[in-house]
Amino acid sequence: MERDTGSSGEAILRRTAEALERRGFKALVARDRKEALSKVLELIPEGAKVGIGGSLTVREVGIPEALERRGCKIVQHWIPGISPEEDMALRREALTSDFFLTGANAITEDGLIVNVDAVGNRTSAMAFGPSNVIIIAGLNKIVRGLDGAMERIRNVAAPLNASRLKRNVPCARDGKCVDVKEGCDSPERICRIVTIFERRPMRTNVSVILVGEALGC
Ligand code: SF4
Repeated sequence: MERDTGSSGEAILRRTAEALERRGFKALVARDRKEALSKVLELIPEGAKVGIGGSLTVREVGIPEALERRGCKIVQHWIPGISPEEDMALRREALTSDFFLTGANAITEDGLIVNVDAVGNRTSAMAFGPSNVIIIAGLNKIVRGLDGAMERIRNVAAPLNASRLKRNVPCARDGKCVDVKEGCDSPERICRIVTIFERRPMRTNVSVILVGEALGC
């Protein structure tokens, strides 16, 4: 269920930010993508090396272009036409960046950050590698509880991502996950790694920017 951006949306953002802070994350609230971009630019110094995960949210906010304009070195594998070897090399190099930027698949109102990954470079970089991780999440990513997070991931995020990536998996065709009832054994299955951040990883600074509009899928 999509969340509204009115006063109840503001309350959800505030409540979720407080819960994230209690779990050791730095939480920031932005009214919209423009304010989110300003907050990202306040956190990243000029010239920093910045890894970017496979995230629509980060691109919708316009972050790669803005960082390039201020002289940051961007490491991202979303480059049309690169070879599989170049793709892997870029995913590995992103793990050694000063900052890592990504979205989230779901964040619960009590402060859990939940992600599903296929390759694992994004979930790895979020937990260990770059010293600073910045997660940008629209209001549509905030859910109630872990069950709500998995429901969102399996029946909203994964079908949209699988369809966008043209993966031959049941959810791309049916719009919902079949794994619990039938099992999803497709070689192209995109749900392979689930991470739940219950607290900030011990040696990584993690900032979460919650944005009062829908971003990503
Ligand atoms: S397990 Fe398979 S069907 Fe379910 S969401 Fe993932 S890729 Fe889609």
